[in-house]
Amino acid sequence: MWMADATDLETTLLGPVLPDRSCGDCGACCTVLTVDTPDFKKPAGTPCTHLSARGCGIHTVRPPICRTWFCAWRRIAHMPDAARPDLSGLLVSLNFVRNPRNCLEGVSLNVRVIAEDSAIDTAMAQTILDAVCDRLIPVWFSNGTQKMLMHPDNEVAGLILSGDPAPAHLSDEVAAWREHYGMFEGEEQAAADRSRTAAKGG
Ligand code: SF4
Ligand code: SF4
Repeated sequence: MWMADATDLETTLLGPVLPDRSCGDCGACCTVLTVDTPDFKKPAGTPCTHLSARGCGIHTVRPPICRTWFCAWRRIAHMPDAARPDLSGLLVSLNFVRNPRNCLEGVSLNVRVIAEDSAIDTAMAQTILDAVCDRLIPVWFSNGTQKMLMHPDNEVAGLILSGDPAPAHLSDEVAAWREHYGMFEGEEQAAADRSRTAAKGG
């Protein structure tokens, strides 16, 4: 899994970074994610060597990727304050897969369990899903080793992928997803192009 330095794409899909929301004591992305840019790299699941008890130890001169990349909680207002990753144990971010098995995997939102696996069964997890499953962006739940598609549901996903005619009650929804994927596939290629020079992911 990787994430391109795709700030514009993230703004297009999730909205701008919210001016009244800050990372506070959270440094989840500095540990959980891979950073793979020409000027700065770190592996997934390992605290950045610059991460201290007081946050980023090189905050004023931190790399460009760290200045421009933000998780979904920093962008989606109807995710509650308590959904902050270090508080909820769930890190939500756009995810880009270089060689996706299908169009629902290429560009998606990933709700990643970063603490106990039981975080997936909490009321907060449902609140987060309700907040992010309201748009034409696939949503996956992941614990780092396994992932499952949460949005769209299995019936709609099957119709999108198969191209089969949709029943009347699903036709508008399936058509909207199929139409949207023209944009996704183009953005996916653009993101892949950008990733040649910069990427952050996990
Ligand atoms: S995971 Fe989100 S809230 Fe936490 S430090 Fe990273 S960008 Fe900030
Ligand atoms: S340089 Fe700072 S902001 Fe960037 S990953 Fe390391 S601790 Fe986090």
